Amino acid sequence: MSQQRILLWHRNDLRLHDSEPLHEAISSGAQIVPVYCLDPRHFGETSFGFLKTGAFRARFLLESLADLRSRLQSLGSNLIVRRGEPETVIPQLAQQLNIDAVYYHREVTAEEVTVEKGLRRTLKPLGIKMRSWWGATLYHPENLPFDLTGIPEVFTQFRKQVEKNATIDPAFPAPKALPTLPEIEVGAIPDIEDLGLEAPRDDDRAVMRFRGGETAGFDRLQAYFWEGDRLRVYKETRNGMLGADYSSKFSPWLALGCLSPRYIYEQVQQYERDRIANNSTYWLVFELLWRDYFRFICAKHKNRVFHLSGLRGLRMKWKEDWERFALWQDGKTGYPLVDANMRELAATGFMSNRGRQNVASFLTKNLGINWQMGAEWFESLLVDYDVCSNWGNWNYTAGVGNDARGFRYFNIAKQSKDYDRNGDYVKHWLPELAEVPANKVHEPWKLQPVEQKRFNLRLGVDYPNPVVDFMQSVRANEKVYNAGIK
Ligand SMILES: Cc1cc2nc3c(=O)[nH]c(=O)nc-3n(C[C@H](O)[C@H](O)[C@H](O)COP(=O)(O)OP(=O)(O)OC[C@H]3O[C@@H](n4cnc5c(N)ncnc54)[C@H](O)[C@@H]3O)c2cc1C
Repeated sequence: MSQQRILLWHRNDLRLHDSEPLHEAISSGAQIVPVYCLDPRHFGETSFGFLKTGAFRARFLLESLADLRSRLQSLGSNLIVRRGEPETVIPQLAQQLNIDAVYYHREVTAEEVTVEKGLRRTLKPLGIKMRSWWGATLYHPENLPFDLTGIPEVFTQFRKQVEKNATIDPAFPAPKALPTLPEIEVGAIPDIEDLGLEAPRDDDRAVMRFRGGETAGFDRLQAYFWEGDRLRVYKETRNGMLGADYSSKFSPWLALGCLSPRYIYEQVQQYERDRIANNSTYWLVFELLWRDYFRFICAKHKNRVFHLSGLRGLRMKWKEDWERFALWQDGKTGYPLVDANMRELAATGFMSNRGRQNVASFLTKNLGINWQMGAEWFESLLVDYDVCSNWGNWNYTAGVGNDARGFRYFNIAKQSKDYDRNGDYVKHWLPELAEVPANKVHEPWKLQPVEQKRFNLRLGVDYPNPVVDFMQSVRANEKVYNAGIK
């Protein structure tokens, strides 16, 4: 009997470590054919007309593919790259190469599942099997104390039960060698311009240059945990907004699967043995649990996470005010914390967690604008876009999530003072406020004309007046929200 051939379909799992499909394929003794399809649908437009994959994320993806290819090559294999829909490309390749089965990591959300189903339909008549594994979370669903349909609707309940009753499986080791590919043209990895995008410009104010790929992911972990020794203070620094090291910045590598959460967990355990076990080491794992939670919740509720009424089914009226939305996108609302964060996002593809919560709250609780527009703007720009984390967090912040506790808003002025006491962050992104003293920089609309002159700032000219009155807009939107609950 001739050797079996397995096509390993890479998706958001651009790594060699902790890959069950790869591990299974190796164990079966088959010849392995790793493939990635650059799906043109990922480079189209979102429903509100934004680029579905913006330049920062596209570059990160292409770098991740190049890294995966070079890691596969170093083990004797290679990565086949094709441009086209997997439902079309994979059956063609499978026939050309006499493939027996396709192995892959399954996803949970609508677009991804539709592709899986489509592929199944096209492979079935060819007699080619598909086998899939779950591989994106820290906890495997089979190890949870409930099945996916029974995931608690409140995060804290989920966390407590999981921490008490579930175990985390060890990561699968990366292979040391791989079989060579059959004779085939592997295909070039396109340039970003070939995808219809302009190469992003690197802004030297960015928290860091995110470089795609498993190798760079390992490097980041090494730098943050081991060389910088920052894990020991993570809980104290995680609400920062400036610089590379206030938080781990693992999210882009997690989103494309260049780093596996189980690998990160094992490194945290190692750190706890070698250096210190404290609240900070616990808290990083706690945050990874949020990530798990949103994925499990998406698996449970299917498409509801994308609906305007959200997981909670809240029928409230949202505005589609494009003029104000543009002010939010461009960082011109007149609220420095919001504007600085939105400008950071546009210039770098990244924003801190603190920033994301504030700008999402402002869009929904002050401007009353359709939260889906915000979620799609994030989808377009974020270098770490993850479908479950993004849409789950937007549900949560907009107040339409499963865990919504009524109308809760972020007090932007208070948040600014708590998390940017000296105004360093807002001045970093809003140079027009550079000369305004720290105790006045978060509320520039309060500056008297004489102060404006002194601080070299003309309100309404150099920096905008507030687009809305803070408390009035909160009260108005609270009414709309409460009307939606009834
Ligand atoms: C409106 C909104 C949209 C968001 N969209 C995304 C997204 O598309 N992709 C994404 O990865 N995260 C998203 N987040 C969550 C969070 O802001 C980022 O994961 C975090 O800022 C990434 O930085 P870090 O890796 O340094 O995080 P750290 O603070 O170092 O945390 C470590 C890891 O824990 C996970 N994590 C932390 N907080 C959350 C959270 N609230 N939800 C889910 N996972 C979390 C991430 O994987 C993160 O890399 C969003 C949050 C909000 C409020």
